[in-house]
Amino acid sequence: MLEIKKITVLGAGLMGNGIAHVCAQAGYEVKMRDIEQKFVDKGLATIKKNLERGLKKGRITQEEVDSIFGRIEGVLDLKEAVKDADLVIEAIPEIVSLKLDNWKEVDEAAPGHCILASNTSSISITQMAAVTKRPEKFIGMHFFNPVPVMKLVEIIKGQATDDSTVQVIEDVSKKIGKETVLVNEAPGFAVNRVLIPALLEAVFAIQEGVATVEDMDTSIRLGLNWPMGPLTLLDFVGLDTTLHISDYFVDEFKDSKYRAPTLLRKMVRAGWLGRKSGMGFYDYSGEKPKPNRF
Ligand code: NAD
Repeated sequence: MLEIKKITVLGAGLMGNGIAHVCAQAGYEVKMRDIEQKFVDKGLATIKKNLERGLKKGRITQEEVDSIFGRIEGVLDLKEAVKDADLVIEAIPEIVSLKLDNWKEVDEAAPGHCILASNTSSISITQMAAVTKRPEKFIGMHFFNPVPVMKLVEIIKGQATDDSTVQVIEDVSKKIGKETVLVNEAPGFAVNRVLIPALLEAVFAIQEGVATVEDMDTSIRLGLNWPMGPLTLLDFVGLDTTLHISDYFVDEFKDSKYRAPTLLRKMVRAGWLGRKSGMGFYDYSGEKPKPNRF
């Protein structure tokens, strides 16, 4: 089995910096690439903050913080980022054309043995694999937010993914402390197939005035025993990411039951993306999140 030593993470956003963090924590040499220095810097700062939180809670030592952080290199140039990688994990925005262009470039620049994994929430692994010359080494590796905390990795087999690629990804996932499930390709795989319609329905209910934001969250939290309500969760996931997934589901399933409520689209157009932009179903500008009225 291919031994993975060097991992490159594409995207230093919400998911990318979390993936870089857990990989470095497991001892891998990590490069984290984004398209502008300010995004790389923000990703690195988030990793540092999260490591220091672990230090304050006594979960890791200062030496460990230094050595984990020391194993992560921020990079801007794509060729430089992937040229000696054993595994590339992509966490760039959920836009099909962007992902396809990215994978063509990565395939050209990465060594022949390198495995290519996408953290996509919904997009076809087979479609992305088909733009590379190594579809048997292409796979879905779907983490959950926040990556250092959430235990699951969904592993998604595309049409051409071979079993040895699955084995390597199962092994890496285990080394970074995650449990895995193996899922056959379908839009949204297993988790988002169920989650996204539920989140969209919560927004439809808000749009129709069924309940306030906080009452909807309290209903689902206490009535269904979710750890957080759907609107709080939407703000964590990102309203833009959820909208991309909804649009993709409508395209793929040809079924309007996955359509996004107007309210969600309007909020994204206004730049209300949830926690990452400071405004979503809640306003994060004060000390405590304050529910918005719609
Ligand atoms: P994000 O917007 O927080 O981060 C994306 C980052 O990618 C940004 O920093 C952006 O500058 C960067 N980027 C854009 N083009 C790039 C390129 N060509 N190369 C490198 N970096 C590039 O988004 P996110 O929430 O981290 O989502 C990333 C992926 O992970 C998406 O496919 C999403 O569906 C998936 N995902 C998200 C969640 C979630 O809860 N947000 C959970 C699981 C999977």
